[in-house]
Amino acid sequence: METYYDLAIIGGGTGGYTAAIRAAKKGLKVLLIEKDKLGGTCLHKGCIPTKTLLECSSLFNKVNSFAKDWGIEIEGSPKISVEKLMERKEGVIHQLYQGIQYLMKKNKIRVEFGFGKIAKHDGTDFFVQVRKEKEVLEFKTSKVIIATGSKPAFPSQLELVRNKVVTSDQMLDMDYIPSSVAILGGGVIGVEFATLFHELGSKVKIIEQQNRLLPFEDEDISKEMERIMKKKKIELLLDSTVNLEGLKILDTGVQIPVIRSGNSEVKVEADLLLVAVGRTNNIKDIGLEQLGIDISQGFVPVNEFLETTTKGLYAIGDITGSYQLAHVAAHQGIIAVDHMIKSEVHPYQPLSVPRCVYSHPQVASIGFTEQEAVQKGLELKVGKFPFKGIGRALTLGNSDGFVKIICDAKTDQIIGVHIIGTDATELIGEAALGMLLQATAWEVSLTIHPHPTLNEIFGEATLAVEGQEING
Ligand code: FAD
Repeated sequence: METYYDLAIIGGGTGGYTAAIRAAKKGLKVLLIEKDKLGGTCLHKGCIPTKTLLECSSLFNKVNSFAKDWGIEIEGSPKISVEKLMERKEGVIHQLYQGIQYLMKKNKIRVEFGFGKIAKHDGTDFFVQVRKEKEVLEFKTSKVIIATGSKPAFPSQLELVRNKVVTSDQMLDMDYIPSSVAILGGGVIGVEFATLFHELGSKVKIIEQQNRLLPFEDEDISKEMERIMKKKKIELLLDSTVNLEGLKILDTGVQIPVIRSGNSEVKVEADLLLVAVGRTNNIKDIGLEQLGIDISQGFVPVNEFLETTTKGLYAIGDITGSYQLAHVAAHQGIIAVDHMIKSEVHPYQPLSVPRCVYSHPQVASIGFTEQEAVQKGLELKVGKFPFKGIGRALTLGNSDGFVKIICDAKTDQIIGVHIIGTDATELIGEAALGMLLQATAWEVSLTIHPHPTLNEIFGEATLAVEGQEING
């Protein structure tokens, strides 16, 4: 059996399998090592299952909230079958999983299942091992990409308890809808699950230690999200931490001691506690320390072409300490491969990454927040336009939110776009293209946006930068 490869990739998630396809299409002989299932977190425990479930909860919510007012009479009250919900989620995952397996075969990528690590580097080649149940395989390779992803961070003081104390991994395999859920963490995962359970009928509380939800977003976005969540009766305990040692498992659920600002303690009870406090990277015991790579900060340091301090060794995706997003992992995989084959390549630019939250309303942003831009000492022009001035938003029955465009006042160039509202994650594509092409607000305002579409909000928000908006 062949044991020499041009490229070995450890980890077959979004980053790893994308890099494998890119490399194979560029003529490299590729080995892909995966310890579990191809597709990784995004396909099995992340993007795809959450978005499939959110689509179901959104439909359920629309039927419950609007159907009657929109003239649709439904006999009896709509009910959720958790079994069917899960069946649909598994169906979507399965279809995409088959697609990845097909692409590996089509591109003649050798896939080995087992735990991968770098055993040795002789200055020129790398020796990688695949530990399987009954044997250890060894391969020689010219280049290596590490794409081992991350897992839910979980405080050592807590223990996972089925249906009571869980992370997003267990939440995606639920077999019942809790009547109440407390979520520890008001970041992306916390806010998405808050939407999901609220729409499925659970009472939801979010406990966040910072003084706002989505703390890395523009402050205006956090404020609007908090306003909308409160309107939906999702309870927000901001500026609050949990006394983890004091958590009690009850017959009926959990009792959570929450320390509010000012040090007062409240006991929050819920059927279930979802711990959504970030992710820990899978970077230990895969041979990085022996190569002198510094992983003491919890991520693998790389340059703008994703190469580590060891020449020929690349790292991509969640483990690189940049945005933990599937499209970042895939994009970085392509850059790494193009760099190793000395193809023309653009470096990785975090400022060009669209960041998406699939809550309802959705949030999507790119570039600097207003606060970051001010901190950098930039002089700004800001345009803001609400969805309620956009006809299409009204036809869809949801006109909460706005688009905010931030420009450098000296050059007029767009340096940040922040959206909260219906289909924000679809709309951010235009902003991403505009920023890549270093467009000014005026240039984007010249784009003809079809009517009635949500995209029209870009025309309005870019005009608003000069106070020239039409419908607002
Ligand atoms: P992963 O996809 O995690 O893949 C890593 C792979 O490496 C895994 O298959 C793992 O089994 C394997 N592996 C690990 N160690 C080894 C080893 N030693 N040997 C062999 N194999 C190994 N991102 C978005 O862009 N949009 C979203 O909507 C979104 N939603 C999310 C929702 C949730 C609940 C979560 C948890 C994440 C979500 N993400 C989303 C983030 C996204 O899933 C990750 O950013 C993305 O999967 C990272 O890709 P990756 O290739 O770096 O790692």
